[in-house]
Amino acid sequence: AMPNTIRWDKGACRFCGTGCGVLIGTREGRIVATQGDPDAPVNKGLNCIKGYFLSKIMYGKDRLTQPLLRKTNGKFDKNGDFEPVSWDEAFDIMAEKWKEALKKKGPTAVGMFGSGQWTIFEGYAASKLMKAGFRSNNLDPNARHCMASAVGAFMRHFGIDEPMGCYDDLEHADTFVLWGANMAEMHPILWSRLTNTRLTKPGCEVHVLSTYEHRCFELADNGMVFTPQTDLAILNYIANYIIENKAYNEDFINKHVNFNATTEDIGYGLRPEHPLEKAAANPGKGKFNKISFEEYAASVSKYTLDYASELSGVPKNQLVQLAQAYADPNRKVASYWTMGFNQHTRGVWVNGLLYNVHLLMGKISEPGNSPFSLTGQPSACGTAREVGTFAHRLPADLVVMNEKHRAFSEKIWKLPEGTIPGKPGYHAVLQHRMLKDGKLNAYWVQCTNNMQASPNMNEESYPGYRNPENFIAVSDPYPTVTALAADLILPTAMWMEKEGAYGNAERRTQFWRQQVAAPGEAKSDLWQVMEFAKRFQIEEVWPEDLLAKMPEHRGKTMYEVLYENGQVNQFPVEKVTDHAGNVYDNDESEHFGYYVQKGLFEEYRLFNSAAGILKKGHEMAPFEMYHRARGIRWPVIDGKETLWRFREGYDPHVKAGEGVTFYGKPDGKANIIFAPYEAPAESPDQEFDLWLCTGRVLEHWHSGSMTRRVPELHRAFPSAVVFMHPADAKKRGLRRGQEVKVSSRRGEIQLRVETRGRNRVPEGLVFIPWFDESALVNKLTLDATDPLSKETDFKKCACKIEKA
Ligand code: SF4
Repeated sequence: AMPNTIRWDKGACRFCGTGCGVLIGTREGRIVATQGDPDAPVNKGLNCIKGYFLSKIMYGKDRLTQPLLRKTNGKFDKNGDFEPVSWDEAFDIMAEKWKEALKKKGPTAVGMFGSGQWTIFEGYAASKLMKAGFRSNNLDPNARHCMASAVGAFMRHFGIDEPMGCYDDLEHADTFVLWGANMAEMHPILWSRLTNTRLTKPGCEVHVLSTYEHRCFELADNGMVFTPQTDLAILNYIANYIIENKAYNEDFINKHVNFNATTEDIGYGLRPEHPLEKAAANPGKGKFNKISFEEYAASVSKYTLDYASELSGVPKNQLVQLAQAYADPNRKVASYWTMGFNQHTRGVWVNGLLYNVHLLMGKISEPGNSPFSLTGQPSACGTAREVGTFAHRLPADLVVMNEKHRAFSEKIWKLPEGTIPGKPGYHAVLQHRMLKDGKLNAYWVQCTNNMQASPNMNEESYPGYRNPENFIAVSDPYPTVTALAADLILPTAMWMEKEGAYGNAERRTQFWRQQVAAPGEAKSDLWQVMEFAKRFQIEEVWPEDLLAKMPEHRGKTMYEVLYENGQVNQFPVEKVTDHAGNVYDNDESEHFGYYVQKGLFEEYRLFNSAAGILKKGHEMAPFEMYHRARGIRWPVIDGKETLWRFREGYDPHVKAGEGVTFYGKPDGKANIIFAPYEAPAESPDQEFDLWLCTGRVLEHWHSGSMTRRVPELHRAFPSAVVFMHPADAKKRGLRRGQEVKVSSRRGEIQLRVETRGRNRVPEGLVFIPWFDESALVNKLTLDATDPLSKETDFKKCACKIEKA
């Protein structure tokens, strides 16, 4: 190409779970522009403001280009200052600390925290490193803070993860209900599609529920602000309404649904009353018993209109209007939710209560009828869930607790039986507690700013990082709050500096080619994971009895056993070309000497297709297909993607004449599971008299580590503010723009009051976004956690506000 022309290639947006396709413009080794990809089915050429500025996220002034180690007088010192070191020195000290921890306390003393922003290949390679290499299930993704509750409910209601529907429902539905999802700011492109349907389809209705009024309320036909936690009661009321009015789909229920009630003995995961260590022994689905339809009807009958309205504060006529929308057999209802449901001490329950409503009506698994869990991160589905980076999971929905699942995974990985430990590892919140308690001593964080993102930072996360017994390594492109709390910082190649793949919220897997080289010595997370494995002889990490089962592994490095023994190294390095004949580098492949992404993906694919022995419905297309397509939605059967799962005519796993089969469950039936309303873990009281709710804003991605380095986005929303009702401000003698002290039982921060603007909060509640590292709201939040999903409730705790 001419030196001054821009080369355009397809890619996927680095930010949210919408998964917009973007065109990447590169000139002279630098990404100079991006634009919405007109051929991308998700966004048809559109992007939101974050997407428009993608080209700048890699070029922040303080980009890290060399490993940094804390040192005093030339030697590692936990209290020393960061000094540049070589990769060799970095991995030397890191491997030494990991070996020390393994020797002293065994595999449970090492751990890793990853991300739904890892590429699929990176998550898969890391899962293998930890679960098979180090034989430690202490691997968890930041998706634990994001959609673990959604996963729990998918598994318990349908026996298989991820939504049955897809984004096409945005055009097929005529009724939309948003439950704790501010799509206008968090999934802007999906919101444009929804808005388009609302404005062009006669009779289309939008219902929005939240604990405060956000931008989606501007389009709402029925906007409802409810008291935190009472969504549980509202959902049971809707079920009750459907039953009382005999609106339920009897035929569907009889054929496709089992009725159950929760029997969990359940806490809030707080220290010391409900130690999460105990809960960790029994992750996932929780306990429930079969009941009859009549018993279910009796359970929800308590949730009358009066009771639901009184508890939630939502006027009765609005609740009735909402219930009618679900109960009307002629309306096609798509329900969407994000963190309002998932970051909830009863997150699995509340997800499930919505499934109950859709299942009662049979409004599921068909165009327009869709309970749909939106994901936050670009690859929460593809990476965090599908390749098994959770502390209890293996690829393709398999779990470490199941002996058969372990044996199956070991077979694919060509490792001796008994390699993978059967006990779930420490999940996100527990990892911080174990670091603080000195039980987890060697720890590696990649692709996430978990210090800023985790709850109760003063008491749980920070002390764990600075515990003198521990060695913390953080891989990041920028010096984040997390990186600066670590002992070793590893500079990371990001996004288009490597070949990658993400899986979005509608089961769409999207690939991109490497566009540019990484700066300085920055290396991809994939390179780091696999290189680090070279630092260990297998004898150093595996016990003798395991080695005796496969003596051919003796004398090899962990790298050789994990990545050069199975399928991973079977494809030669290839030059990937696009339709225009442009040729792309693949730095990882050239380094390792084989097409590493292809090898990892094709090995992972063995889980998907061969998982038929255990489960079906996870099939991925062959690697090559993705480099040509604008994403493909799994299951992919005979080269064709699946738009609606479980329904004949759309899902090839459902045979002719079956109609609907929820094949994730052995009897093909989905579960309706009754769960009651329960009070929140902490509520406002005399001293801490306000609800505190945290979340995001349109302009910033999560902790702001990328978007705050884009000048245009930084200027658009420079600092976090506390959104407050004017009457609450007045009561405290505060003016708009004034600096205030916000405190909870756990900490305090200072920021400015905002009484106007995009979020209109009710009296008694304040909203603070968490993107701003100069006002770390997670110093205030409570680490109350759903005991089933282990996801923290960032949406409700108590705080007070005073003049600064
Ligand atoms: Fe699309 Fe989300 Fe990226 Fe915005 S941030 S362009 S909505 S993927």
